[in-house]
Amino acid sequence: MRNILISGASIAGTATAYWLRRHGFDVTVVERAPAIREGGYKVDIRGAALRVVERMGLMDAIRAASTDMRVATHYDARGRKVATMDADLFGGRTGDDVEIMRGDLNELLYDLTRHDVEYVFGDSITDIADDGTVTFERSAPRRFDLVVGADGAHSVTRRIAFGEESRYARDLGYYISICTVPNTLGLDREEAVHAAPGRTANVYSTRQDTRAKACFMWSSEPLAYDHRDTEAQKDLLIKAMEGTGWEVPALLASVRDAEDFYFDSVTQIHMDRWSKGRVVLVGDAGYCASPASGQGTSLALVGAYVLAGELATGGGTEGYERELRAFVEANQALGPANVKGMVIASRAALWFQLRMIKLLPHLPGRDRMIDKVAGPIHRAANAIVLKDYAGSSLPTLSSDE
Ligand SMILES: Cc1cc2nc3c(=O)[nH]c(=O)nc-3n(C[C@H](O)[C@H](O)[C@H](O)COP(=O)(O)OP(=O)(O)OC[C@H]3O[C@@H](n4cnc5c(N)ncnc54)[C@H](O)[C@@H]3O)c2cc1C
Repeated sequence: MRNILISGASIAGTATAYWLRRHGFDVTVVERAPAIREGGYKVDIRGAALRVVERMGLMDAIRAASTDMRVATHYDARGRKVATMDADLFGGRTGDDVEIMRGDLNELLYDLTRHDVEYVFGDSITDIADDGTVTFERSAPRRFDLVVGADGAHSVTRRIAFGEESRYARDLGYYISICTVPNTLGLDREEAVHAAPGRTANVYSTRQDTRAKACFMWSSEPLAYDHRDTEAQKDLLIKAMEGTGWEVPALLASVRDAEDFYFDSVTQIHMDRWSKGRVVLVGDAGYCASPASGQGTSLALVGAYVLAGELATGGGTEGYERELRAFVEANQALGPANVKGMVIASRAALWFQLRMIKLLPHLPGRDRMIDKVAGPIHRAANAIVLKDYAGSSLPTLSSDE
């Protein structure tokens, strides 16, 4: 097996391209968007995923581009400060964990691979025949030994090889929307949060960023909407957040002008198998843990490393499934629990949460409390022992030099 097609050029796709190339495979990546997609929120790299980016030689660049957030401040509906929290604790980060903008990480991964991997933008797979012949929306058909679906939670590769999304999607009962807004609050490496029952709004600005990102989450029954109709999605967000206090009305007014609008249900993908015939899934396509897990990016990075390593060392897709399954399950289990802390259902629970945040620095057994917050995610993030697939005999990419 030599010739591999990857569908999707986000974190899972670019990271898989890197490792496959490094193991000597010929790699083509097809991405539906006209270029590498910027945008998205800040994402965390934790535990085993840190070892993966270290082995890619990216650690220094990632640290240099990290968000460097200082603090998260909670405001009530009238704009009064009610509690502040250290940003790392707020994000569940411990030790070496690092936070970076999704778009910045993807740019780094793309830069590392673009000289050695063929990227085809503005196209999509339409079918995969049993003999590996792939047809595209625009390009001529081509034959590949293996197709890697790294095309996200709504993967087309998965639909073609495994059937409709509804068979694998587990809706957690929430929606999330993220976009860039003007930094009218003058935030400097600070996150401002306002929570109302069933609805949460955050806005933050990272280092060297004169703009801000707004993120809205709310509990909801499944909504019917067109995935390509951004204006209709903006309407749904605005309706869901209507009547919320603090700066939310002003933030919603800016959403209308946002060009990098992200909107999705908080949904996980659960599958018994991630491979079938000549197709294998990596990242959100196979095991989306949802933004609520805080581990989607780390799962994609680790999945890419293990998939390429197993393919290169004879374990094949069976080895990939075997090595990764428990790690995926541990991280997916975080989603349903975390989301309840991100969008608080009742006024009483909100009051209790803010009270705890205020008291935390003064409580006896503070470290135990912190472990309660960050411990589960830290344990899940480390729930795999990475094999050392990348021996020193492997060629390095030209952009490593
Ligand atoms: C623009 C964007 C913003 C995001 N923002 C956040 C965020 O703020 N917070 C968060 O937790 N997660 C966010 N995510 C999801 C997060 O990136 C993933 O959970 C995680 O990094 C795993 O990535 P992935 O590569 O498996 O999937 P994704 O990051 O979803 O990437 C899938 C890629 O496949 C491409 N694609 C889709 N369909 C096709 C097709 N038919 N043919 C070819 N290519 C296709 C997409 O354009 C995309 O580049 C975002 C994803 C994107 C694309």
